[in-house]
Amino acid sequence: MNYVKHARCTLCNTTLPVTKGITTCPTCQDKGILEIEYDYERMKEEVTLDYFKNQHDPTMWRYKPMMSIDSDHYLKTLPIGGTPLIHAQRLANDLGLKQLHIKDEGMNPTGSLKDRASAVAVVKACEENHRTVACSSTGNAASSLAGNAAKLGLKAMIFVPERAPLGKLRQLSIYGANVFKVRGDYKATFTLSKEAIDTYHWYNRNAAINPHLVEGKKTVAYEIAEHFGFKVPDWVVVSVGDGCTIAGVYKGFYDLLQLELIDRLPRLLGVQSLGCAPFVKAFETKQSLIETDENTLADSIAVGIPRNPVKALRAVNHTGGSFIAVSDEKILASMKHLGALEGIFAEPASAAGLAGLVEALNQKRIKHDESIVLIHTGNGLKDPATAERVISPPYDIEGTIEALKNTINLEEEK
Ligand SMILES: *Cc1c(COP(=O)(O)O)cnc(C)c1O
Ligand SMILES: [Zn+2]
Repeated sequence: MNYVKHARCTLCNTTLPVTKGITTCPTCQDKGILEIEYDYERMKEEVTLDYFKNQHDPTMWRYKPMMSIDSDHYLKTLPIGGTPLIHAQRLANDLGLKQLHIKDEGMNPTGSLKDRASAVAVVKACEENHRTVACSSTGNAASSLAGNAAKLGLKAMIFVPERAPLGKLRQLSIYGANVFKVRGDYKATFTLSKEAIDTYHWYNRNAAINPHLVEGKKTVAYEIAEHFGFKVPDWVVVSVGDGCTIAGVYKGFYDLLQLELIDRLPRLLGVQSLGCAPFVKAFETKQSLIETDENTLADSIAVGIPRNPVKALRAVNHTGGSFIAVSDEKILASMKHLGALEGIFAEPASAAGLAGLVEALNQKRIKHDESIVLIHTGNGLKDPATAERVISPPYDIEGTIEALKNTINLEEEK
């Protein structure tokens, strides 16, 4: 039992029933991304403030009545969600901010926010009697799907671009997935995966195409709101590639507003890399999205043709938010900053969020006295090679106290 009413096409606005294997709008095809809509009046009767008081499941499934799940397969998944919301006092002081929190999605079982979507994907796959799940991904969606598939005993077919970082590739193999490393860019990977899914009828975890996945990602917004006793922050900052994460964040707050659990939406700041910023361009020019190069070291947000443009642009426009682009240098600097000030090891795409926040403060798009939640989307341990570009190398010394003293003295003279 759930409160799903129907799916609505984000392009032509037609509604259609949410059936097995639902993907995109039959009329608008691939570009007709669907949005799942709920009967909030009925949902309201179950999902009240008391519901949360009496709900003891710390994982994302505490929000199951607000999702599009039809079965009990969710009881068998990895423990996803319930991630810490850290009071980032040292970083706040450094930036001159009154209130900054970091939502640590790197703490999810496979190390990224993608787990929230993958969990829904494997549950839906089981519901629809699939034995094999598939996706193409720049890395995290893949490793996340592989881990979640392993937990439910599903077979995973994974398509990744050549440049996927080693940590993510190793995760895939350890989780027992079949991995296809496709020569070329992410576009080539995506195209092949789509053809393969059509050919073999595997369950499709490509985030934009499968409307249930945003319904998983939205739980991150529920957790943020619930943490603050349903008082929302002024801003939520998150990096953007395909646009599904920011769409999920928006959907979560939107649901809560419909349920009258919150009284306004936070503004959303979407952050991209200067070398791959189609959303920033579309936002600034008020034109539709144009394909761009994928020229950034932040692999998880290197998406030249985002698959979820309508939902992501709406997320920012409807909240009075903003899109901003930052250089790879600023992203690397933010990785160091997060590590040294907050003890958080973020991968480049995640650190881009902080770089975007700093830039938005400089440009006075965000004020220093506003309350801010930064979503840390993925764990840096997956990509030590990029971290190597910003760190100072270790001191290489003999194992004697003299050698140590000499090195420390030299250091202090600097
Ligand atoms: C996927 C991902 C993003 C961006 O999410 P989209 O849905 O592609 O916009 C940001 N950071 C990390 C670490 C990711 O894995
Ligand atoms: Zn349509």
